[in-house]
Amino acid sequence: MKRADDFPFCCGINIRDLHDDFVLDIGHDKTMDWKRRKINTTILENETGYVKKVWGSYNTVCLAYPNYYRTGMANLGFQTVYKILNDQPSFLCERVFLPASGNDARIVSGAAGIFSLENQKSIAEFDILAFSLSFENDYPNILKMLDLAGIPPRAKDRLENYPLMIGGGIAATLNPEPLADFFDLFILGEAEEVLPQFCRYFEEARRLGHDRRKLLSGLQKEINNIYVPGLYEVRYSADSKIQSISQRDKDLPEKIKIKHVKDINAFCTQEVISAPQMEMEDMFLVEVNRGCARSCRFCAASFVYRPVRFRGFAEIAASIDYGLKRKKKIGLVGTAVSEHPDLMRICEYISAQGAQAGLGSLRIDQIDEKMVDLIKAHGIETVALAPEAGSQRMRDVLRKDITEADIMRAAELLAGKEIPNLRLYFMVGLPGEEERDIDAIIELVGKIRHHVLNKFEGKKKFRRITLSINQFIPKPATPFQWCPLADVNSAGKKIKKIENAFRRERQIKVIHDVPKWNYVQALLSLGDRRVGEILLAVNRLEGNWAQVLKEVNINADFYVYRQKQFDEVLPWDIIDLGVSKKALISEYQKAVCLVAREYQELMKKDTAKYK
Ligand code: SF4
Repeated sequence: MKRADDFPFCCGINIRDLHDDFVLDIGHDKTMDWKRRKINTTILENETGYVKKVWGSYNTVCLAYPNYYRTGMANLGFQTVYKILNDQPSFLCERVFLPASGNDARIVSGAAGIFSLENQKSIAEFDILAFSLSFENDYPNILKMLDLAGIPPRAKDRLENYPLMIGGGIAATLNPEPLADFFDLFILGEAEEVLPQFCRYFEEARRLGHDRRKLLSGLQKEINNIYVPGLYEVRYSADSKIQSISQRDKDLPEKIKIKHVKDINAFCTQEVISAPQMEMEDMFLVEVNRGCARSCRFCAASFVYRPVRFRGFAEIAASIDYGLKRKKKIGLVGTAVSEHPDLMRICEYISAQGAQAGLGSLRIDQIDEKMVDLIKAHGIETVALAPEAGSQRMRDVLRKDITEADIMRAAELLAGKEIPNLRLYFMVGLPGEEERDIDAIIELVGKIRHHVLNKFEGKKKFRRITLSINQFIPKPATPFQWCPLADVNSAGKKIKKIENAFRRERQIKVIHDVPKWNYVQALLSLGDRRVGEILLAVNRLEGNWAQVLKEVNINADFYVYRQKQFDEVLPWDIIDLGVSKKALISEYQKAVCLVAREYQELMKKDTAKYK
């Protein structure tokens, strides 16, 4: 097997002269072909750690990311799957990304193709086309990429000579159903153990000459975490809800049980390919944990990656040693980085080698003097905190388990040590939210600003508080999976109110997401198989969602704005992540009770006024 460093390069294009996101397409005449090859070669030239095997004698997998190169390459899950597949001696894995916008318009559907980076093969030529799915809003790009390659989007229309299409990643694990018609199978949950099993099975089935049908049914029966949607039938009742999801054959499992990796130390999850154009390009990414024991009621990562697991110090140190040969900064990645029992030791280890650590967002109640000293020592100038809500009642509804005093103490500690930038995450459109909760965000930020500026008085200048305002989107497999999305207009008004409150404050910057895209995300998160029709229309109408929602005979509000019932079958009920519905209902009810109890108290107070 040849590794990246074994290959000589002679291309003279400076990658920085090219479009920000690499163009992997280009037309089908000779000049264009030459240009594409040159661009791909230059991309590889700038990377460290890619694998290029000789095309011809391997089972071939094209690993696709349905977004641009710089985003896909910063995804540790994507990189991990690339490594696992290339570590299988009889498999070859290459990458492909969404072509840059503006350039793909030149391409006639299916005629120009879309090519892998390493051997520059059309994605239609691979045995397997595997999509890494982290964000629902990327789903339309899958169909766009298939279209460019001339691959029929629906699995049932693809003959044996087309690649076997696989999906995986957190978005698919939460709810693969909107994509059910397009994929032959999904590999859900964590890849490290199941992917090699899949490869062995695939190879053996190939050796035995099994056709696709036989391969898929064998995989579904034999390997956990695998879901072949075509082997399951969904029936709908007259009110449009799901009546049942059942296996077409009695031998198939009733539910898809997701098993998690028990010992994450058995796998070395770290950056595989380093590239100057990827997001967070200055950091070498190292995983420190999976899951989070806090179980905030809105947080999918906490419920999907249970139980919480931490990589050991020795394994992390080995990753750091390796990473420092490539970069001078180590990005510690995980859902609960600040809860790692050895975090101080890890950071000290990085400092001892004259390098810096990037910590991501920190748990507010874990920030103490020692941690702030560490942050300072690592030259970190921006610290991200996530109060998520301004009022205590909303934080309790979310089960954030932090008080205003905790938030102030953290902000003061950071300001006291002259950390010049704070980033604060808040959500709007939360279950049970009222106008006073939006006012509470504004008040809380005002207080933080006041405290921070007081601490900074006479010292080095404080730079900025950045408020990142996101709309709450109900996610499958969480206690809030039954909640509707808040109306897009009302969410927009709440965001505007916060923006207006700080319009004149030079040191407070408000950034936010766009409510209409939250609607799309909610639809693709909570939808069932029928939503696939919407995705096909989005592709046909080139992303004109307004037109799509007018044209298709599917009521998208049914999925997005409807309060779901506990006893109804939800599209993702086929997936068993190991968290019982009973436990989720109990958590949901606790949240509702909090709102109701507080409402009763308010009513009591109000009535008392009139005695
Ligand atoms: S602390 Fe963060 S990662 Fe953990 S459950 Fe809450 S939101 Fe999720």
